[in-house]
Amino acid sequence: MFTSHIGPEQRDEALKSLATDTFDVLVIGGGVTGVGAALDAASRGLKVALVDASDLASGTSSRSSKLIHGGLRYLEQYDFKLVREALHERELMVSSLAPHLVKPLAFLYPLHEKVRERTYVGAGLALYDALRGFQRALPGHKHISQKKIAEIAPSLRPDIVTGAIKYFDAQVDDARHTMMIARTAVRHGAVIATNVRVESLVKEGKRVLGVKARDTETGKLITIKATATVMCAGIWSDELHESFGLKAGYNVTMSKGVHIVLPKSAIKSKEGIILKTAVSVLFLIPWADKWIVGTTDTPYTGDRRNPLAEREDVEYIINEANKVLKPKLKIEDVIGVYAGLRPLVANKKDSSTTKLSREHTVDRSAPGFVSIAGGKYTTYRVMGKDVIDLAGVELRRIVADSVTEKLPIVGADGYVALTQQAERISEESGLSAASVIHLLNRYGSLISELLEIIKNDPKLAKPLTKDLPYLKAEIYYAASHEGARSVDDVISRRTRLAFEAPNSAMDLATDVATIIAPVLGWTPKQKKDSVSAYIDIAEREIEAIEQALASA
Ligand SMILES: Cc1cc2nc3c(=O)[nH]c(=O)nc-3n(C[C@H](O)[C@H](O)[C@H](O)COP(=O)(O)OP(=O)(O)OC[C@H]3O[C@@H](n4cnc5c(N)ncnc54)[C@H](O)[C@@H]3O)c2cc1C
Repeated sequence: MFTSHIGPEQRDEALKSLATDTFDVLVIGGGVTGVGAALDAASRGLKVALVDASDLASGTSSRSSKLIHGGLRYLEQYDFKLVREALHERELMVSSLAPHLVKPLAFLYPLHEKVRERTYVGAGLALYDALRGFQRALPGHKHISQKKIAEIAPSLRPDIVTGAIKYFDAQVDDARHTMMIARTAVRHGAVIATNVRVESLVKEGKRVLGVKARDTETGKLITIKATATVMCAGIWSDELHESFGLKAGYNVTMSKGVHIVLPKSAIKSKEGIILKTAVSVLFLIPWADKWIVGTTDTPYTGDRRNPLAEREDVEYIINEANKVLKPKLKIEDVIGVYAGLRPLVANKKDSSTTKLSREHTVDRSAPGFVSIAGGKYTTYRVMGKDVIDLAGVELRRIVADSVTEKLPIVGADGYVALTQQAERISEESGLSAASVIHLLNRYGSLISELLEIIKNDPKLAKPLTKDLPYLKAEIYYAASHEGARSVDDVISRRTRLAFEAPNSAMDLATDVATIIAPVLGWTPKQKKDSVSAYIDIAEREIEAIEQALASA
């Protein structure tokens, strides 16, 4: 309690607690929905555990467009309630819950015609602004002339773009944010262990009393006892319901979404760009010194753990972007590609167990067992609240109301004041001002923990690699404080080297392993195995990318 560290010692303690304690709530799944539910429950004063079969955010929650947004396209579907809810969450995150992690981001909506379209889109964006309510952390929309567009976004074709409307949404490093919510839950007493896969339920009659789960690092089977088991397994929901012999009131189908990563020089624009396509929208999103462009939306039935991009996905993205860009994007510009799977919920009409909502669905398929699926990253907090409200009924006692609307994520406290002191921190620590800002925007006030590590071992103040801002101390910290258990966890999720560094960061795998090996107490063989496991993942992805690019 009161520490938010999730290092190797905490994992050992968590495993002991999982095997011996009885929890009010056990959460299956450490994506954003699961960690949101764990935080919601822990901060209501409940005794909470969470396990994930792999790493935190290793499923969909590390592969999104990384936008915290109301969803402009839902406006066109007149789904005002949904947009209002998501915008409320966006304002909360930017202003108080996670200002160190969730940043405002401006988008241009290019126009192709001078009057009618400007009036229509302008009215839509005025409504989008109005739906924020009174708490306004982000500026409102603004009309931009064709002349001004040439200054802000020279890459937008002047022959077809007649002007634009600029509006704001927000951006987050999804995997980092999910991990920080998990750490906040730990801070409030939750017991969290990754690499613990739930295999079956423990039942008495029809009532679910917990689960049997496997520690995949040792192979040991653990029985975890809980009054309410809460499944937040996203795209794994159907598979798990079936293996547990439970019938839920919904099915989860998968839709694949691909993004490509480009160098900053590929698109000349000071702001992000949103393009309307025949089926949805395409985002051109600034990401440090790169662009992330996507996404696609295609039905998927393959391997859930490792979705890969295909030729058609990359072709579609480049063709759609090239409708408005000059110079056109070239296949050789692409430096990275990633794919994710949306959990789309289809509710069964005849189900009485399902509480319907347009975005997410909460379900109780057995006494002691509830689940939630669907929704979007932006509304994770509401999803956590809704599923814990339902799980609370299982506890047969008065459960406090959710408090997460007023509960900042660790690192948020004092962040804004610290940004004003960046120069002083730079002088005192010997780090460059740019490094201090980089650290503040990833750790907020937890920067003090990194500075302590650097003080104890000044070699860790050095960058891991040139051209990217990560310090060696961050790699160390990923294992000592942030729950990373492998080279893959560090390269793919604690940092985003997997799509930011050349060659999927394969060349950095050994350096990363050398830094984390002593923290995790690895033998030389364990170190070698973790490097090889990452190289296997990276090679598979590089092969898929090469195939996708070769013929695109
Ligand atoms: C391409 C794409 C772009 C998107 N862009 C956005 C966006 O910009 N903004 C937005 O708001 N939303 C966006 N979304 C939606 C958002 O990413 C998802 O709704 C959200 O991440 C789902 O989180 P989750 O926790 O429900 O699922 P997941 O993150 O998939 O988590 C499920 C977890 O369950 C674990 N698990 C599975 N089986 C077991 C088991 N047996 N035992 C223990 N654990 C288990 C998995 O390891 C996994 O970590 C996007 C989605 C996609 C695919």
